[in-house]
Amino acid sequence: MKAKAVVLTGQNEYSVREIELDAPKADEVRIRMAATGLCQSDMSVINAKLPMPMPIVLGHEGAGVVEEIGANVKNVKVGDHVITSFIPMCGDCYFCLHQEPWLCTATDIFSGMQPDGTSRVKLDGEYIGAFAALGNMAEQVVCPSMCVVAIDKKYDLKAAALVGCGVMTGAGAALNTAQVQPGSSAAVFGCGGVGLSALQGAKIAGANPLIAVDLNDAKLEAARDFGATHTVNASEDPVAQIMEITGGIGVDYAFEVIGFPAVAAQAYASTRRGGTTCMVGAGSPQDEYKFSALEMPLSSKKVCGCIYGSTNAKVDFAKLLGFYETGQLDLDRMCSRTYTIDEVHQGFDDLVEGRNIRGIIVY
Ligand SMILES: [Zn+2]
Ligand SMILES: [Zn+2]
Repeated sequence: MKAKAVVLTGQNEYSVREIELDAPKADEVRIRMAATGLCQSDMSVINAKLPMPMPIVLGHEGAGVVEEIGANVKNVKVGDHVITSFIPMCGDCYFCLHQEPWLCTATDIFSGMQPDGTSRVKLDGEYIGAFAALGNMAEQVVCPSMCVVAIDKKYDLKAAALVGCGVMTGAGAALNTAQVQPGSSAAVFGCGGVGLSALQGAKIAGANPLIAVDLNDAKLEAARDFGATHTVNASEDPVAQIMEITGGIGVDYAFEVIGFPAVAAQAYASTRRGGTTCMVGAGSPQDEYKFSALEMPLSSKKVCGCIYGSTNAKVDFAKLLGFYETGQLDLDRMCSRTYTIDEVHQGFDDLVEGRNIRGIIVY
């Protein structure tokens, strides 16, 4: 089967190419994609901050319709609407067995290969990689069935696509990783798509005050729309401003959603004694976070990393779509612009320039 796909062939070199897909093998499915979100992690692969073997089909945040299933597939059937998960959830590894499926190790998301180490995608007759065994910035995808979750057909697949990465990561950071409590205080550092999702998650959990922190006033304005009770422009000592808002105590939960050491230090300093600092932003592998060896024990602050919002996708995708249905989670405004696959360069340019909350390719 032939399909159009966004293929990265060298650093900062990507284009829409015709790929050829093998039929799904056992435990695999073929999906006709409906929508794929443009995520910062794709950009990090493009600019080689997140190095992956090339050529590789980009894309890891999407939703579509199952068109074909291989032998032994039981979790979905032809015609199902599905969201892809860039973490597999095999059900059998140490982490899946210990109810931490977001840490599942069944696929190596950096290898670009399927769990068995091979590929289902060819470019010019040669097998190439697929981001996180998905490569779903494509009209068609063949991927492991353990990386797809069926959803109710009533949901808009554009909104559903966002749940596959950015929204789940942000909202899950608040709801699952940090487990924000009703009436607690929270601050979110970085108001891009994931940050606004963290804000929405903290709002659903009942945080108040809920403080948005960013350098960009337009993003802070958007944060108000998504539930922030206070906004702080980080150009003027954000820690002091947060201390003022919280009566000198600091917030119960601070979320770092950028991946910069200086911002992480601010988030940690804004956290109250005994509170939680949650690191969501994926930074450069060369950067390091530093904490005082005296202050950390004395303040008893908890610092936690967060991948994929500590998500059990089989449960949490439906939960977030339920919040969308009841109006508690605004996904429609998160989809700020759609593109055709041929407009992908415009989409990534807009991502880099911060023009979108989330840009989405629709097929
Ligand atoms: Zn992503
Ligand atoms: Zn697993």
